[in-house]
Amino acid sequence: MEWDQEAAGRLERVPFFIRKKVKKQIEEFVAAQGRTVVTSEDVSQARQQLAGGVPLKTGQGELTEAELGRITELIEKGVTIEGLNTKHIKFRVCGGAAGCPLTLMELKPLAVRLADLAREQQLEAFLAGSHDGPVLFHHQFKIALAGCPNNCSQPQIADFAVIGQAKPVRTQEKCYHCSLCIKACKEQAIHLGTGGPEFNYDLCLNCGDCTRHCTREAIVNSPVHYQVLIGGKLGRHPHLAVTLDRQADWSTVEDYFKKVIQVYRDKALDGERFADVVQRLGENLWIDEQ
Ligand code: SF4
Ligand code: SF4
Ligand code: SF4
Repeated sequence: MEWDQEAAGRLERVPFFIRKKVKKQIEEFVAAQGRTVVTSEDVSQARQQLAGGVPLKTGQGELTEAELGRITELIEKGVTIEGLNTKHIKFRVCGGAAGCPLTLMELKPLAVRLADLAREQQLEAFLAGSHDGPVLFHHQFKIALAGCPNNCSQPQIADFAVIGQAKPVRTQEKCYHCSLCIKACKEQAIHLGTGGPEFNYDLCLNCGDCTRHCTREAIVNSPVHYQVLIGGKLGRHPHLAVTLDRQADWSTVEDYFKKVIQVYRDKALDGERFADVVQRLGENLWIDEQ
C-alpha cells in the first residue's frame, strides 16, 4: 500500500507508539474499497469514523481518535502534580497520571510516596548544601515515572526512575486463534500454539498491549511490577540510566530509593551529580565503606 505525500505527513504526526496500529487501520480501510494508495482524504474519513466512536476495525485494543488526541496532548504537555517538586528535586510523571489509557499503574500516589521519602531522607537539604549560587538544571535530582514501557517521561535520563510493567499470562479461557494479540505485539514475543498464545518472555516488554487486544480474555496481565533505573543524565557527559531491577514490587522500589539517597549522600564528591557517582563507582556503589 502506498501513501501520498500529504497523507504520509499526517501519519508522521501520530504518536510513534501507536503509529503502526493507526497506519494498519487506515490501510485496511482503503484496501476494503479496492484501492492501493492512501490519500489525505482517506485519513480525514478514517479520523471522522474514529472520532464518531466507530472503530475502523473491531477489537478492545483499538484506540479511538479522541483517545489518540488525548494521549498526544498529555505527552506534549506533561503532567504536573502539586507538591512534588522542590528547588532541587524535579519529577517527570507521564500522561498516565492524567488519564492516558495505556498506563499500567497508578502514578500519582506512587510519585507522592517518593516525594515523601525524599523529604524524610532530607535529599533537598543535601542537594542545597552541595553547591553555592543559583540552582541550575544540572544541580537538580530528576525522578521519572512512566506508566508503561513506552517511557514517555524519559526514565532513561533520570537519576531515579520507575516504569510500570505487567507480564501477560495465558488463562483457561478458550483462544479463538484470531491473531489480534500477535498483530498487537510490536516485539514478536507471541506465537500461537494449539492451546493458545505462548510468550517469549525474553522478548516481551510487559507492555500489556496483547491483553488489551484479546477480546476473549485468553490473556490477562499478572500484577504490576516495576522496572527501576538509576543514574541517567544529559549535560556535558550524558549517560543512559542502568537497570537496577526488572521486576520489583513497590516496597522494594521504596527500599532502592532510600538506598540511592543514602549512597548519594555518603559517596558524592563536592557537587557531584548522582549519575556521575554511579559511573565513577560502578558496582562498588553499593559496597559500604569501612
Ligand atoms: S508512558 Fe505509557 S502510560 Fe505514560 S503517557 Fe506514555 S503511553 Fe501513556
Ligand atoms: S506484553 Fe509482551 S507479549 Fe504482550 S504485546 Fe507487550 S511485548 Fe508483546
Ligand atoms: S489469545 Fe486472544 S487475541 Fe490472541 S489469538 Fe487467542 S483469542 Fe485471539
